[in-house]
Amino acid sequence: MHKHHSALGVATALTPAAPVTLIRPAAAARAARFFAEKFPGRSLYAVKANPSPDLIRTLFASGITHFDVASIAEVRLVAETLAGEQAKLCFMHPVKAEEAIAEAYHVHGVRTFSLDSIDELEKIMRATGDATDLELCVRLRVSSEHSELSLASKFGAELGETRELLMATRQAADALGICFHVGSQAMSPQAYSDAIERVRAAIVDAAVTVDIIDVGGGFPSIYPGMEPVALENYFEAIHRGFESLPVSYSSELWCEPGRALSAEYSSIIVRVERRRGTELYINDGAYGALFDAAHIGWRFPVTLLREEESDEAMEGFSFYGPTCDDMDHMVGPFMLPADVKAGDYIEIGMLGAYGAAMRTGFNGFTSESTIEVDDEPMASLYGEVVAPRRRATVIKLG
Ligand SMILES: *Cc1c(COP(=O)(O)O)cnc(C)c1O
Repeated sequence: MHKHHSALGVATALTPAAPVTLIRPAAAARAARFFAEKFPGRSLYAVKANPSPDLIRTLFASGITHFDVASIAEVRLVAETLAGEQAKLCFMHPVKAEEAIAEAYHVHGVRTFSLDSIDELEKIMRATGDATDLELCVRLRVSSEHSELSLASKFGAELGETRELLMATRQAADALGICFHVGSQAMSPQAYSDAIERVRAAIVDAAVTVDIIDVGGGFPSIYPGMEPVALENYFEAIHRGFESLPVSYSSELWCEPGRALSAEYSSIIVRVERRRGTELYINDGAYGALFDAAHIGWRFPVTLLREEESDEAMEGFSFYGPTCDDMDHMVGPFMLPADVKAGDYIEIGMLGAYGAAMRTGFNGFTSESTIEVDDEPMASLYGEVVAPRRRATVIKLG
């Protein structure tokens, strides 16, 4: 892996013709230590946010030893990447292929599975030969109203179904868990407090003992127009809710952050190939690392990478990606100096979660080029002096 000091250094020294992914292991390690030390329970990394083996090793070395995997390919990937280490895999997709469950259990030693229906419970029991050493987590449906990206409609048992499901799962499981997901980029700690109230209602209704409360992912990162309160506030709200549950004395608390552990890990450097008014044609887009920017209008921070800084006023730009598809369009607005022009390089930040990992090769535009840098990410939730009830720090480059 090539190393450079900074994003600007990469752009000026290499003048790359294809997009470059920058990685910042120090930022991921900092996020991992933060969760490992401050979350009042255990933190599992949700691998789908970014399955890079380098990132997985970095997180593991910084205290994240449990991994939320959702496909047999993710099971194999983490098992291979951390072979010989004391890592634990939890298969937290509520609808799995029977073959995937069997391989996870018999080949890779996975004992923790999630489910949201009796059908899935029966499937897990069949695939594992009625194993008696299972940790089974029942996924509840909870509201996504505080989150930028809903995860409320696809998975999760409804209020009326949880009683029967919890009782049946209690019978089958060595350890019974309850899990949920409040939706990604949850902008308020209230999302977790509300969901934990749902958990309370379900426990009381089914009158079961519970061994694991898993509050899922959804912890935010920081983007233009989306600056959450400090993560300590989330941890406090979760801790308070958990402590007030009737099962808190005997159960473990888990969470499954994806975005919050990986967003700061990567950014990309793109080149402007053409300018048309306030539209910039850049060499990465919807089929590359910018799926969310194109399809759900997500705004990412941008910086012009020029040795001589522009002193022009900032202006809002939209981007076109490199493919021939009209949908390869990112409305932004992305704020850049007004004199940005063809040939300029731009860094697009905070792409470590659901960005760099989603690149396709559509239309022949893709790039394997990855360079490690040791400058700061364009924004961070993990500044050195993060205190509760303070807003997140935005670290400016340059
Ligand atoms: C996607 C997902 C996560 C991670 O969500 P983030 O919003 O990235 O933190 C965690 N758990 C489950 C079950 C998921 O599907």
